[in-house]
Amino acid sequence: MRALVWNGVNDLAVETVPDAAIVNPRDVVVQVSLSSTCGSDLHFIDGYLPGMLPGDVFGHEFMGRVVEVGPGVTRVRVDDRVVVPSFIACGNCWYCDRELYSLCDTTNPHAAAQQPVLGYPSGGIYGYTQPFGGYGGSHAEFIRVPFGDVNCFTVPPEVDDLSALFVSDAVPTGYMGADFCDISPGDTVAVFGAGAVGLMAAASARLLGAERVIVVDRLPERLELARTRVGAETLDYSEVDSVQEFLRETTGGRGPDAVIEAVGMEGHGTGVQNLVDRAKQAVRLETDRATPLREAVLAVRKAGTVAVLGVYGLTDSFPTGVVLNKGLTIRSAQQHGQRYVPRLLNHLASGELETSFLATHPMSLEDSVRGYDVFKHKTDGCLRAVFTPAPVVATGR
Ligand SMILES: [Zn+2]
Ligand SMILES: [Zn+2]
Repeated sequence: MRALVWNGVNDLAVETVPDAAIVNPRDVVVQVSLSSTCGSDLHFIDGYLPGMLPGDVFGHEFMGRVVEVGPGVTRVRVDDRVVVPSFIACGNCWYCDRELYSLCDTTNPHAAAQQPVLGYPSGGIYGYTQPFGGYGGSHAEFIRVPFGDVNCFTVPPEVDDLSALFVSDAVPTGYMGADFCDISPGDTVAVFGAGAVGLMAAASARLLGAERVIVVDRLPERLELARTRVGAETLDYSEVDSVQEFLRETTGGRGPDAVIEAVGMEGHGTGVQNLVDRAKQAVRLETDRATPLREAVLAVRKAGTVAVLGVYGLTDSFPTGVVLNKGLTIRSAQQHGQRYVPRLLNHLASGELETSFLATHPMSLEDSVRGYDVFKHKTDGCLRAVFTPAPVVATGR
């Protein structure tokens, strides 16, 4: 099959690789209809996140059609049109029982590689380095989905492929961030970052009842989407001296009730601290530029919540004392998609949620190296490049 592979830092290629196949009785093979870029891929493409091997197929946000089921699969059937969360769950361990699916204790065969860094390993993820399981990714014609009955969600006929695609990764990540904020009527939620995850966090905060949602970014086309597609207020941080000051003033001096940080370690920022971070990052003393995280901790009101969705490595200069003295709650996780996918598909089917506008750059899998270039440099208003490995199949609509 054809697939996009990582051959080294900033060295990607579309190659022919062995077909995805059933390995365990509960596996399913999905023919990938749509597969999307994700900002977290840039961490290993740029070399900040180790653990990719040359030839690894990557990509973890996808949907498609089931073409083969193992003998232990009971619910999923061949020809089902499904969306699959990016983290792999077993559905049966201590963490899965508590709906903490991305922390699954069963699905990471390379747990020993992760344990020294994290203390305890995370669950496996498709196409996202050897320490995260070494699974084949979705930028391919076919993908193996372990524990198919737990991880494949049938897409209702009212929801088209493109809308369903983002329920794999960007939407549940954003929704989980909003869920973490325990939103009450009247709340103001600020969202740092207007990429796909940030926009979906903002849309979710509205769905969950926030009175005001303020999206902070610097790219005009993204801020426009936040206003027109999500109905959020926006702030271009390059136009103000202090994001914290702006948020304080617009909330009557108290600050937002919650801040969702959806930028991560490749975030741009302004000010001296950012320059320090960049210098440290350049000499690899610090792998992150944690400016958005620090800003979030400073900007949120006392006793507020900061939901951290951006991917960071090991960060110094984290304002631990501020967290204590302001009485903050910090919540974070890789997405527990299996908890949220059914309700998100319902929101899509009823028209309460719109996602397809995230797919700014659809293209063939053969074009995917260019797709990552456009995505990485955010040129031409790119939010997500979406690849179409399989010929488009009828959706029943
Ligand atoms: Zn992702
Ligand atoms: Zn599990």
